[in-house]
Amino acid sequence: MLRVGIIGWRGMVGSVLLQRMHEENDFDKIDTYFFSTSQAGEKVHVLKSQESTLHNALDVHELKGMDILLSCQGGDYTKKILPLLREEKWDGHWIDAASTLRMDSNAVIVLDPINKEAIENAIKEGTKNWVGGNCTVSLMLLAIHGLIKEGIVEWVSSMTYQAASGAGAQNMKELLVQMGELSKSLDDVTYETNILELDKKVQMIMSSEKFTKELFSVPLAGSLIPWIDEELENGQSREEWKGSVETNKILQSNGFKTFNVDGLCIRIGAMRSHSQALTIKLNNNYSIEKIEKLLASANPWINFVANHKEASIKHLSPAAVSGKLSIAVGRVRKLNVSENLISVFTVGDQLLWGAAEPLRRILNILINKKV
Ligand code: NAP
Repeated sequence: MLRVGIIGWRGMVGSVLLQRMHEENDFDKIDTYFFSTSQAGEKVHVLKSQESTLHNALDVHELKGMDILLSCQGGDYTKKILPLLREEKWDGHWIDAASTLRMDSNAVIVLDPINKEAIENAIKEGTKNWVGGNCTVSLMLLAIHGLIKEGIVEWVSSMTYQAASGAGAQNMKELLVQMGELSKSLDDVTYETNILELDKKVQMIMSSEKFTKELFSVPLAGSLIPWIDEELENGQSREEWKGSVETNKILQSNGFKTFNVDGLCIRIGAMRSHSQALTIKLNNNYSIEKIEKLLASANPWINFVANHKEASIKHLSPAAVSGKLSIAVGRVRKLNVSENLISVFTVGDQLLWGAAEPLRRILNILINKKV
């Protein structure tokens, strides 16, 4: 059996990855070793009824013993450890959730329902670095897969509503702490309480020095944050920049027509699952029936929601899709502002198809090919 080392298994992405690997019995196919940057030597029960001792994720010699390393640890870890491993002539497969390697020419962004052919070719060519795409990119590509296959997209403007868990496990906890602090303003509230007094109390808690905001630096509960990741010189955030470059790297590698993507990425107080409001320019005036059919039938994970109020509020939300592999796609209609423009609203669990699932699937592809 291949020896697979997993780093970052207790983080947000890592925890969901392990859950999926348990569900699909992936651990039966591999000899698994768990690594940690902070808890080496500790005993854990990650595998059912089996105790594992954590290995040191900073010890290159321990890591070198693995055939495959799968990291959900983050970009700084990748930057530090992978070059050392390659210097030591480690020839194994490196699978990564972080963005560090995505645009490297010797790394493939994996999203096999879209770029299986590119993955197969890369395996034959000896590629060893496999990276999951940005969460909103992977979810968007799967959501509009039908339009991509048909080659009818001219450009996409994507306005995102990204959940707290997109920033990691600790940020998710901070959102809950913020919610708890705000809900203290509900003490003594009755239907008779003056709403302006209540609102004032909430605002005071939010703007107080004592309000917990160590990680987000500003309130997220009861508010939003209109910037994700670093600031670039052209006014985009790095998250917004990823939208176009990663999309086109994935599409190009599989011979699909490429297109520009741009828009604003916003953090909202959802716990899990990212939503995106897409404005899509098509290359012609297609009927709404044709567009709906293309979207709905593109891949097995699409949950197409008819553009009606009841169905939309019930099925097109983080609350409706969290923990599910299905990707909700709806609010499809022609926009009145210009020709050939349509709207699409899509919601998907960014920890599943946006992070853990493509990694789990490339791991399985490599295991099945015994490469
Ligand atoms: P995370 O939750 O912050 O976890 C990263 C590491 O933090 C863990 O592996 C763990 O490492 C350490 N850690 C310290 N205290 C912890 C605690 N109390 N609970 C859990 N972990 C703790 O990060 P993440 O969101 O999984 O992201 C990992 C990588 O995936 C990043 O590069 C990120 O950009 C990328 N990614 C994330 C998402 C997402 O939606 N979150 C989506 C796509 C890609 P040790 O065990 O070694 O201490």
